[in-house]
Amino acid sequence: MMKVLLADEYGFCFGVERAVEMVEEAVAAGETVRSLGPLIHNKQEMQRLAHEGVTAISEPVQIRRGETAVIRAHGVTPGVQQELEEKASKVVDATCPFVTRVQRLASRAAAKGRHVIVVGNPDHPEMIGVKGYAPDHAFVIRDETEVPDLPQLNKPLVVSQTTIKLKTFFDTAEAVKTKTDDEVEIVNTICSATRDRQEAARALSGMVDAFYIIGGRHSSNSVKLLAVCKEQCEKSFLIETEEEINDADLAGVKQVGVTAGASTPEWLIQRVVNHLESLGNSQALKP
Ligand code: SF4
Repeated sequence: MMKVLLADEYGFCFGVERAVEMVEEAVAAGETVRSLGPLIHNKQEMQRLAHEGVTAISEPVQIRRGETAVIRAHGVTPGVQQELEEKASKVVDATCPFVTRVQRLASRAAAKGRHVIVVGNPDHPEMIGVKGYAPDHAFVIRDETEVPDLPQLNKPLVVSQTTIKLKTFFDTAEAVKTKTDDEVEIVNTICSATRDRQEAARALSGMVDAFYIIGGRHSSNSVKLLAVCKEQCEKSFLIETEEEINDADLAGVKQVGVTAGASTPEWLIQRVVNHLESLGNSQALKP
């Protein structure tokens, strides 16, 4: 008999769950729903939504009157939002409230003529959106090594992309102090979803003989979860669906852990858990 144990925190983060629910509501109301960019970084969930008629567009210009445009959890620039509002019949703004907070902080500081340093990946959609709220005052930098390239700063505010590492944020914020004679305001806007999932996985990985992390191979938070689990549980595997489970890996396993990245839907997680439980009840896993 093999026991299946779920990590205390796993799967959809608050912002992604909220975005999917908002889309489901629009679909249920009979609207033609089109999201600007893929709503979620999970192939299986995107396929399920496509089945319900939800499609993705890459540019606001592709939206038509009569359609509902969805802004995903990463948010967009005010300019893009305005374009969608002009073109679509309705706009569902599913920007995660944690991202909205960063946008507002940047916008308010810029309105006072202050500089805004955002620590994050300048190519990430969330950062492109935030920069749009303070176009002439914000600098998006990856880490402290980019601080020397900044100009002299006026009353800088330092905020962060929601998913970066705490150490990167504080090291960069500290380095920013060398670029101003003013006081530096540091507001930590990192969301705890990624860290919470990693800590829960770490806690469980010491108690199990095998671990399955459900998530896309290109999902960075799923890949990080795999690395965390491997520290204490050598038999840790990143899978997209239950079909990738190899029974031979579970021979002699008494306890198996399960977690999932922030874009992995509950229905997919349940399928994996059910599959593992049925394997655990069968004779196939006897060593
Ligand atoms: S990771 Fe955090 S900030 Fe990003 S969508 Fe999820 S809850 Fe929001």
